[in-house]
Amino acid sequence: MGLRFSTLLVLLYFIYGFVVISSNKDEYDPTIKTMEEFSGYPIHEPDFQDSLSSLSVETESLQRQIDELATLSDTPAPSVTRVLYTEKDVLARRYIKNLMSLSGLSVKEDAVGNIFGRWDGYESELAPVSSGSHIDAIPYSGKYDGVVGVLGAIEAINVLKRSGFKPKRSLEVIMFTSEEPTRFGISCLGSRLLAGSEELAQLLKKTVDGQNISFSNAARLAGYEDNEALSSVFLKKGSYSAFIELHIEQGPILEEEATSIGVVTAIAAPASIKVDFEGNGGHAGAALMPTRNDAGLAAAELALAVEKHVLDSGSIDTVGTVGILELHPGAINSIPSKSHLEIDTRDIDEKRRNEVIEKIKESALSISKKRGVKLSEFKIVNQDPPALSDDEIIKATESSCKELNLSYKKMISRAYHDSLFMARISPMGMIFIPCYKGYSHKPEEFSAIEDIGNGVRVLALTLAKLSMS
Ligand SMILES: [Zn+2]
Repeated sequence: MGLRFSTLLVLLYFIYGFVVISSNKDEYDPTIKTMEEFSGYPIHEPDFQDSLSSLSVETESLQRQIDELATLSDTPAPSVTRVLYTEKDVLARRYIKNLMSLSGLSVKEDAVGNIFGRWDGYESELAPVSSGSHIDAIPYSGKYDGVVGVLGAIEAINVLKRSGFKPKRSLEVIMFTSEEPTRFGISCLGSRLLAGSEELAQLLKKTVDGQNISFSNAARLAGYEDNEALSSVFLKKGSYSAFIELHIEQGPILEEEATSIGVVTAIAAPASIKVDFEGNGGHAGAALMPTRNDAGLAAAELALAVEKHVLDSGSIDTVGTVGILELHPGAINSIPSKSHLEIDTRDIDEKRRNEVIEKIKESALSISKKRGVKLSEFKIVNQDPPALSDDEIIKATESSCKELNLSYKKMISRAYHDSLFMARISPMGMIFIPCYKGYSHKPEEFSAIEDIGNGVRVLALTLAKLSMS
């Protein structure tokens, strides 16, 4: 450990030294003085290596925090259920704000409860570098999704502070409000608003949950009184010089290949479509086959067409799913008179994904014509653009892995994250760590603390590099 962190310090010293040398050319041999100032340690002391041994990730306390946060749940362990603005969510928010304060960060919250903890850099007028994720959890899920990226980012700051590092750009940890769509049906609520979605700000004014509680009332009950002014949440493009999110992979690749770190190069984005067909229905015995216009068969044919169009794209990165298919009236002896499908299709290439959507629409039209059913709805509910990671952030992450002697691979994120929306206002990157069998959104979700620790070290070093640039 000591050796690895000495690598970190030496690297940081060089970056810092370079900055100081280039800006204070007149000063007499500033490197040794600044190294001591910056590291907080006298560099010629013989016990320097010993001092460095305290610079490791405190995995025990990090695991304890993960476990403590998991107890703030509406369902029994090992499952975690933490839904936006519920009592447990409010307690968990308090827990995070507390940790941020304990790490010496200045804490701020916006009108919907995005939480920011800032460590001021010595050039604090520059756009900061930020890192973060979410802590809300869908019903009966696990304790690592999102949480690792919030607690891990706070610990990454602690690692840097313990190392004596002084950031040039400020470093900020963000806890995003409601990444999961559980309560109001809107995913990445906090980060979408940060990215300036006026459309969402308008929509939230009339959004209610399953109990008919309005978004604004729920927010008020959770302590967010000023949530009417949602545009106050919007951040301008350029508010951050970089954003990077640490997250469990939620897929099996890193574990299977025994690779420590995934460096995310792109985030696939979903489009979702709702389709309704209507036919005449009729008695399953009396209506003869040539006279039928079966809305159920139209839906079945469209589901197969979705699969075909996705496969025809020729890329393994194009995926499509019909996750909902409902038939009306839903009786064994009744020809379906109505059918309803919901289709999710994703890709890292927006043009290719949109071509698939176009083909699905053409199929829906031709199926309705051929089968004599009415296509009563074809609605593209959302069509978010995918995001590419920033080259400089990818490079900084890769070199951090190399310097820390950790194996890594470049990969895409097939699930989407708050990073997808942060990419609209900031250069973005993501760091993945292995998780057990790729399980996520269920109680079996697990990441070993050693893997989390590796992720935190890569995050810390990457943040350090980015803060000096
Ligand atoms: Zn997540």
